[in-house]
Amino acid sequence: MLDVHTHRRENRFRALYSLTPPRGFRPEEGVFYSVGIHPWVEREYRQGLFCPWEELEALAARPEVRAVGEAGLDWARRPLPDFSPACLHESPSPGGAQRAESRRRSVELLERQALLAARVGKPLVLHCVKAVDDIVALHRRLRPDVPWIFHGYRGNPQQAAQLVRRGLCLSLGERFHPGAAACIPADRLLLETDESLLPIGEILHRVALARCGAFSEKMQRFPEKALGFFQKGAALSPELAALSTQESAALAGFSAALREKLEENVGRLFGV
Ligand SMILES: [Zn+2]
Repeated sequence: MLDVHTHRRENRFRALYSLTPPRGFRPEEGVFYSVGIHPWVEREYRQGLFCPWEELEALAARPEVRAVGEAGLDWARRPLPDFSPACLHESPSPGGAQRAESRRRSVELLERQALLAARVGKPLVLHCVKAVDDIVALHRRLRPDVPWIFHGYRGNPQQAAQLVRRGLCLSLGERFHPGAAACIPADRLLLETDESLLPIGEILHRVALARCGAFSEKMQRFPEKALGFFQKGAALSPELAALSTQESAALAGFSAALREKLEENVGRLFGV
């Protein structure tokens, strides 16, 4: 298996299928899961719209479930007020106290899931937006024995190096920084489709382009064109797409070896 994180139902038989389980959720045969409370639904979870904590704990221990998450922190999202008739009269923009309270709850829920991952001995899959320092602080405090996987990593090479030093694995999807993709050690690198319509093979191809010597060099010659390619839905520019036969063969070989290495990582981390 190559795809460690997807929400797309059609990918579920060839990826780790990630979801926040509804009440009474039953795993489907032949599917491997990652289950956790996504930070975007923290409020709905608290209001009982998803499976209660005891159910999540029981699910996390099941053999079909290979990871806890995605869980995490997202400081780019504005906290919403809780539903209540009073909300209708509240100001739509949350005040500082509400924001602080919402952050406290997010950290608490993440910590709870990190402890659950440690208890069941499975990796933790992280969603992190503008919260790297808080994730690193929590990792430093908990010193987990299980792997933490930063999913959908889009940060720069310096930050990637910091997270790798800390012991985290980084998973790349449709959009990523080519410099970061080039510098992540192969044994810490993973791939994912997440919400993307691109097949995982295309994401592998893009990551291989960023990591394969001759192409990395080409990308450095056309840095803006290369960076544009790693944006959502963009195609490779003609300058970069023009490959000699020799270069194409080198890339194909590199890509096959990378696939093998990444599948080995998935086997080691998730046992699939
Ligand atoms: Zn996701």
